[in-house]
Amino acid sequence: MRIFSSERASRFTESVIREMTRICLKHQGVNLAQGFPDFPAPTEIKEAAIQAIQNDWNQYAITWGTPNLRRAIAEKFAWYNGISVDPETEITVCCGSTEAMISSLMAIVNPGEEVIVFEPFYENYGPDTILCGAIPRFITLHEPDWHFDERELAQTFNNRTKAIIINTPNNPTGKVFSLEELKCIADLCLKWNVVAVTDEIYEHILYDGTKHTSMASLSGMRDQTITINSISKTYSLTGWRVGWAIASPNLTASIRKVHDFLTVGAPHPLQEAAATALRMDRSYYKDLATQYQERRDFLAQALRETGFRVYLPRGAYYIMTDVSRFGFSEDVTFARYLVEKAGVATVPGSSFYSHPSLGKTKVRFCFPKKKETLQAAVERLKKL
Ligand code: GLN
Repeated sequence: MRIFSSERASRFTESVIREMTRICLKHQGVNLAQGFPDFPAPTEIKEAAIQAIQNDWNQYAITWGTPNLRRAIAEKFAWYNGISVDPETEITVCCGSTEAMISSLMAIVNPGEEVIVFEPFYENYGPDTILCGAIPRFITLHEPDWHFDERELAQTFNNRTKAIIINTPNNPTGKVFSLEELKCIADLCLKWNVVAVTDEIYEHILYDGTKHTSMASLSGMRDQTITINSISKTYSLTGWRVGWAIASPNLTASIRKVHDFLTVGAPHPLQEAAATALRMDRSYYKDLATQYQERRDFLAQALRETGFRVYLPRGAYYIMTDVSRFGFSEDVTFARYLVEKAGVATVPGSSFYSHPSLGKTKVRFCFPKKKETLQAAVERLKKL
């Protein structure tokens, strides 16, 4: 019989992160799997969205984003990341950073070219490379501090390498790439003429005084970097699907074409409200980080007390844990047990690795949750 599924689609599985959310709903569990907040977004942003609909911003926006939002993105990129860009030619607004990432990769990568991915990686990067017909090359981040071997990285670059995906602060490890590490990557990108595609959506969620550095701010990298970001994590608006890619005019022209034919554009009224979000008082970001630090410290301590080995994150809102001492032979069985018996959903570690065996002693918890949600999860875990 003819197989209707494409060879491409058969090369990756359903998202385990999203699957865990569905299993969690079935068991009425506490969802510490898919990373989204259960607390409200700032009132002024929601009001801006209501106003935008009332004002009839209800038809397609310009494909690559409303001028107002692109200006707001450029203003914020200048003050926070220290990089000035032209909103007319260097920004593409997309349906979330997920679309910004796939549009960017499809805009630059040819089938058969290689894309370097740090592992463990955010689940989407695997299918993203497959959908582009690219060959992923994995570089291990070694626990407990998730460092990489510079020699191994240097040996992985070659003349088929087209892009390297960096995610800092990192999902799932909480690693924040240091300036030295980014410089090492930048030198290799410049040497081999490789584009750095950098997902910086957790740039404001930082702990213990850790600083975020944008790859595009490094000498020589401004025109060889695509910076991906969104309103999802910073303003607790994961369901609005507003993200963007910032890149040189040349790269942007290609990204815009792919984006246009994939989705036409992100929701217009929500783009207008996103501009309000990006222009919020700067004190907002400090408060955000403080609140996340409290959540991280609370969950990390509770997990340690319950028998998990915690890799304390320096950024983002996930905690990777080692679960060897619970005696399960693999992570998926353990994660199923946790959601079915304790009622707490997590993401099995294997979802973040190219070979499932590499993640078999790990599960990831997320903590963008109200204190009472985290408390409820901890109560359930204690019963284990
Ligand atoms: N980034 C979030 C996570 O890793 C949500 C992923 C998603 O479902 N888009 O859990």
